[in-house]
Amino acid sequence: MTRLIFFGPPGAGKGTQAKQLSAEYGIPHISTGDILRDAVNQGTELGQQAKSFMDRGALVPDDLIIGIIKDRLAQSDAQQGWILDGFPRNVAQAEKLNEMLAATGQGCDRVLSLVVPDEVLKTRLLSRGAQEGRSDDNLATIEHRLAVFHQTTSPLLDFYKTHNASLLAEVDGHQPMDQVTIALKQAIAH
Ligand code: ADP
Repeated sequence: MTRLIFFGPPGAGKGTQAKQLSAEYGIPHISTGDILRDAVNQGTELGQQAKSFMDRGALVPDDLIIGIIKDRLAQSDAQQGWILDGFPRNVAQAEKLNEMLAATGQGCDRVLSLVVPDEVLKTRLLSRGAQEGRSDDNLATIEHRLAVFHQTTSPLLDFYKTHNASLLAEVDGHQPMDQVTIALKQAIAH
């Protein structure tokens, strides 16, 4: 049973690493960003509600996100473990996750924080925008997403340090992809 939270700024490599480890460990990769983008592409009500926030690089309202996670964690494949990518993203979401897990007698095994300098993140996101055409990977939105990360999401590190310091592991995300994977696996094993 492995339950992991991948934490880090936009462009840190959470999605890439989560896909890799999800395949290796046989547990689902749950990305709130991917779920929201699917909803936008399919034009569902959720997608329509989320789109303007995502295009601006703002956080989508907590009640929408928490509903998504609650449904997803209740599915059968998530009973064997999971990797959360992009959630929680603020203290209210982290508190809600703790409540949800406590209610089903579950816990989380590791919070893995990927650390990458802002300048590197900007370059990575701009090149992803050019390659994949993600509409939020333009300079203005990228800068806003980084600001939201520093103001709203990074205080979660203190939240986890206060609640359970041994959960948290920092990994250098500014090294070749395979090296990051190795470092993550070491952090998970310890
Ligand atoms: P990145 O981490 O590169 O910014 P994501 O794919 O994780 O990209 O998220 C894209 C967008 O989806 C965010 O900018 C935000 O608008 C929305 N989003 C994803 N997860 C959350 C969340 N937990 N809470 C609020 N909004 C979210």
